[in-house]
Amino acid sequence: MTNLTRRGFVKLAGGLAAVGVAAPRLAHAAAKSQVVVIGGGYGGAIAAKYIRMMDANIDVTLIEASLNYVSCPLSNPILIEKRDLAVQTWDVNSLQKHGIKVVIDMATDIDPVKKKVTTKSGKEYIYDRLVVSPGVDFKWGAIPGYDEAAAELMPHAWKAGPQTTKLRDKLKAMPDGEPFIIVAPPNPYRCPPGPYERASLVAYYLKQHKPKSKVIILDPKDKFSKQGLFTGGWQENGLNIEWVPGANGGKVASVDAKAGVVKTEMEEYKSSCVNVIPPMMAGEIAKKAGLTNESGFCPVDFTTFESTLHKDIHVIGDSCIAGAMPKSGYAANSQGKVVAAAIVALLNGKPVGEPSYVNTCYSLITPDYGISVAGIYKMDKVEGKDTIKEVKGGVSPAKASPAFRKQEALYAESWYQSIMADMFL
Ligand SMILES: Cc1cc2nc3c(=O)[nH]c(=O)nc-3n(C[C@H](O)[C@H](O)[C@H](O)COP(=O)(O)OP(=O)(O)OC[C@H]3O[C@@H](n4cnc5c(N)ncnc54)[C@H](O)[C@@H]3O)c2cc1C
Repeated sequence: MTNLTRRGFVKLAGGLAAVGVAAPRLAHAAAKSQVVVIGGGYGGAIAAKYIRMMDANIDVTLIEASLNYVSCPLSNPILIEKRDLAVQTWDVNSLQKHGIKVVIDMATDIDPVKKKVTTKSGKEYIYDRLVVSPGVDFKWGAIPGYDEAAAELMPHAWKAGPQTTKLRDKLKAMPDGEPFIIVAPPNPYRCPPGPYERASLVAYYLKQHKPKSKVIILDPKDKFSKQGLFTGGWQENGLNIEWVPGANGGKVASVDAKAGVVKTEMEEYKSSCVNVIPPMMAGEIAKKAGLTNESGFCPVDFTTFESTLHKDIHVIGDSCIAGAMPKSGYAANSQGKVVAAAIVALLNGKPVGEPSYVNTCYSLITPDYGISVAGIYKMDKVEGKDTIKEVKGGVSPAKASPAFRKQEALYAESWYQSIMADMFL
């Protein structure tokens, strides 16, 4: 990864964003095209809003399962009582002000031939183009012993909401001296730095409130995102974290949620506070609609994000396979804008432009110590196959002053405020 200054990145990303954001309004008198969007999160809310901003002649219906959207980004500080769930919670109906028809319901079926979505309440929605952005679901049972019932005892907290507060309460109740165990997921998964941000913040909390405890990360992988910055930050802040990589027996073989036991191939761990982040796949509806391949995620065309398995259906966000782009909120936002521009062009019989994508991801090691990774991505060919490649990117410097790290922690908050405003205001 090459180094990129913040100024250089902002300049370049700003230029690219303008391609997606400032597309002209198109005036036409023909019958209105129908776009249906499933999922009102980081990808879907943006796709719905930007289609309407680019062409008010397109009817957009957003189907979202929950009235309130709870953001995962910045949900880790809730675990250590440095943030409240309320500031993470957004009213999906606010999207109505952009002329979007918001339907609070669960999409249960997609008929790609009749181009129809059916919901749990039995309603049907016909589309010309469908955007699917349902996030992730979990591969229950992939870790023997870990199913939905076990998640009540060993919370994943990988979908923000009641799971987050459950894990927070378990951490608070955990006796001093017990380890806080994180079972990290295999690739690919939502938010690559997320488990390590969680480990950092929990260790920061333990240092103050349960100094005899430590964090143990049991990991099937041998490396992780921003690893040097995380391990440097752990050392600098005196955080007690033991990372057990796959090569040293970190892969978990089974869990017994009732007993609080986690078994790897080599050892047995026990705690009243275990956080299992299970293997992931595309949101269930994508699988049910036949949009996934053997990886569990959805292959797409990288210019339009149209499914390579079903015509006129675009899959964005965590559910799609997007080459080198991580499964992050910012990536989903960027894909949402690209797909909006592509759909508006396609429905108006215009050529689709060549897209660029951006991602920035902040992580907190302590509430006052932030690090980041940023990247710009374009479509390219690798071994004759289309993919999305990082063309420019960088991470925070390895050595930086406390003031610099504090500034990055503040940037994390302003990133959150501006991306949420982009989605819901
Ligand atoms: C702890 C944690 C920290 C994170 N931190 C960051 C960060 O700092 N920066 C960052 O960029 N990313 C971060 N992420 C990742 C980010 O949350 C996801 O990448 C992002 O939410 C993906 O957007 P999405 O639109 O694909 O899915 P989501 O945002 O999850 O939205 C999916 C929506 O679809 C709805 N839905 C699902 N199925 C249906 C259905 N059948 N019918 C109707 N609605 C449905 C769901 O209710 C949900 O609202 C973090 C994730 C976690 C877990």
